[in-house]
Amino acid sequence: MILFLFRQEDFLHSLTTEVKKDYLNSIGGIDSMDENRNEMIGDLKNYLEYLKGMGIVSLPASEIKPDELSPSRIITLEEVRKELGDCTRCKLHRTRRTIVFGEGNERATLMFIGEGPGYDEDVQGRPFVGKAGQLLTKIIESINLRRDEVYIANIVKCRPPQNRNPEPDEIRSCNPFLMKQIRVIHPRIICALGTFSAQTLLETDAKISALRGKSFDLEDIKVIPTYHPAFLLRNPERKREVWEDMKKIAELIKNAGRRTEH
Ligand code: URA
Repeated sequence: MILFLFRQEDFLHSLTTEVKKDYLNSIGGIDSMDENRNEMIGDLKNYLEYLKGMGIVSLPASEIKPDELSPSRIITLEEVRKELGDCTRCKLHRTRRTIVFGEGNERATLMFIGEGPGYDEDVQGRPFVGKAGQLLTKIIESINLRRDEVYIANIVKCRPPQNRNPEPDEIRSCNPFLMKQIRVIHPRIICALGTFSAQTLLETDAKISALRGKSFDLEDIKVIPTYHPAFLLRNPERKREVWEDMKKIAELIKNAGRRTEH
């Protein structure tokens, strides 16, 4: 009934003046509409009083769930990709060549999340395929995993122009899709590569140097931030720290096993 009251207002707003006049005449004018509404509000009050009298003091919330993936609803990455479509939700769509959705094992124990596609990724439509990507492949192999055994995604799926940092509105637009990918894959561990990945996933402003190597909980998933491979290309002396972080990840994988439920 409440819904009807709002719908009637919306409906009226959407009408042209002529049609509005006809509509109001047909229902007996504005006064009659107000009367209808007051009558309905009166009925609703009476009904609520009646329920109260029956001992019902609260009403269940809407059955309709928000557009969010509940863990119990099994969907696939293909469905998430379909929902993303030819995305124009943020301004990055204007300059991108390709949406870089992510790739790898849908049931990976370990997921890597970078910042956003660069030139090579934008051209090929695959994450981490440029120089930083080649280093990431080596990092993955350093703990005896193959690239196709893990899942690789980014905080934003479209290349920021001139490889600038992704902006907050772009991250916000893309985030629901990344969250759905995480829910589908449900990895044991996420390795957050670099500042934007770590700060976004952990909802913090802390520096990557303060976050790296530590373990954080994202629901039941462990998040281990480390330096971004592109940073390592510029600062090779920091590779040792990433190696330490990867050993921690390898240890967690060893102790975690694979989830059976999904
Ligand atoms: N850097 C990223 O953060 N992601 C990529 O996919 C490539 C480079």
